Amino acid sequence: METLNKATMEEMLSTPNRLLVGAGPGNLDPRVARALTLPLLSHLDPTFWEIMDSTADLLRRVFRTENEATLLLPATGMAGMETMFANLIEPGDKALIGHSGHFGSLMVEVASRQGAEVTEFQGPEDGAIDEEEFIEKLDSDDFAVAATVHAETATGTFQPVQKIAAACQERDTLFLMDAVTSLGGMDVRVDDWGVDACYSGTQKCLSIPSGGSPITFGERAMRKVRNRKEKPCTYYFDIQELMRYWSGGMEKSYHHTAAIPLVYATHEALRVLLEEGLENAFERHIRCSKLLLEEIEPLGFKPFAQPEYRLPMITAVTMPEGLNAKDVRTRLREEWNIETDLGLGEIAEKILRIGLKGYSAQPRNAAYVTLALSTMVGAA
Ligand code: PLP
Repeated sequence: METLNKATMEEMLSTPNRLLVGAGPGNLDPRVARALTLPLLSHLDPTFWEIMDSTADLLRRVFRTENEATLLLPATGMAGMETMFANLIEPGDKALIGHSGHFGSLMVEVASRQGAEVTEFQGPEDGAIDEEEFIEKLDSDDFAVAATVHAETATGTFQPVQKIAAACQERDTLFLMDAVTSLGGMDVRVDDWGVDACYSGTQKCLSIPSGGSPITFGERAMRKVRNRKEKPCTYYFDIQELMRYWSGGMEKSYHHTAAIPLVYATHEALRVLLEEGLENAFERHIRCSKLLLEEIEPLGFKPFAQPEYRLPMITAVTMPEGLNAKDVRTRLREEWNIETDLGLGEIAEKILRIGLKGYSAQPRNAAYVTLALSTMVGAA
């Protein structure tokens, strides 16, 4: 077995200080970084419970919901997806899943594993599914749930959902939405739109380290949960069990040991976001992605998504003649300390994804990435 020798044990862990503008985590606001280092409390300390209640209230404001069942799952965005389907699918339920990229296909996988009979409704990978056609499909069978990804990170595409959500509200179909990449970076209105359940991830536009998934279930969804014939096949992600710990006030009971520093960081990051104002944050994301594209498109980096479906927080671009995305990504990291991402799935090496999101969505970062890319064009 390998053991640490004295010399390595005495070295402090250090990591390069990169500009994180990929599809995954972004850089942290110093206030959030500071919150991570606050003294630990116990997960059953009433002072910590007050922080939990306040975090849930802040999450409600960001999700724009009054849903009581709103909490931070102590696991990544995929756990949000698992929780949503594990609670809201009963074996044999019919699910209509609209997707045009990698994370939408994962919804198909996760819902199927819960025993759903899934009908896939696929859109173009550089665009979105057509809402009207999706609604027509909704009427072709007795769907218990319909689901889609609001911001498809894999391709940098936006999925309009309001008409679909409204159609589901008029029917006996729950509308479930992935807001992992959209929450905090663009408009998400759980109550106004009629989204029955929605989850996000901490590391995208909320600028918190990865490891948490904010999630919210509305009354229609909770009714379905309460009326299930069998309990969900998971204890950890059972929303009713989770709510025994996350319900407001001092009546909480143990369900798991919370990721304490992550809750502190979430609390602080949501305060930072709400102090700026949601609309201002959305506008900042649009401004940064426009600034970036205006500069790099003339260099030959062409946007992958159709104009009306481009996300403000993830800009996916194809390469100019003579460059390949894999080399560009490596050079950005090694020569400029900039972290970006390739695509996912079949288009992996065709596109570079630049994520100016959350705290990383700043004009100076757009300018720095532009400068780095400009040095590679014509000099490949
Ligand atoms: N959904 C979307 C749209 C995502 O972009 C991601 C991650 O990038 C996930 C789900 C899964 O989140 P995580 O990697 O935090 O588990």
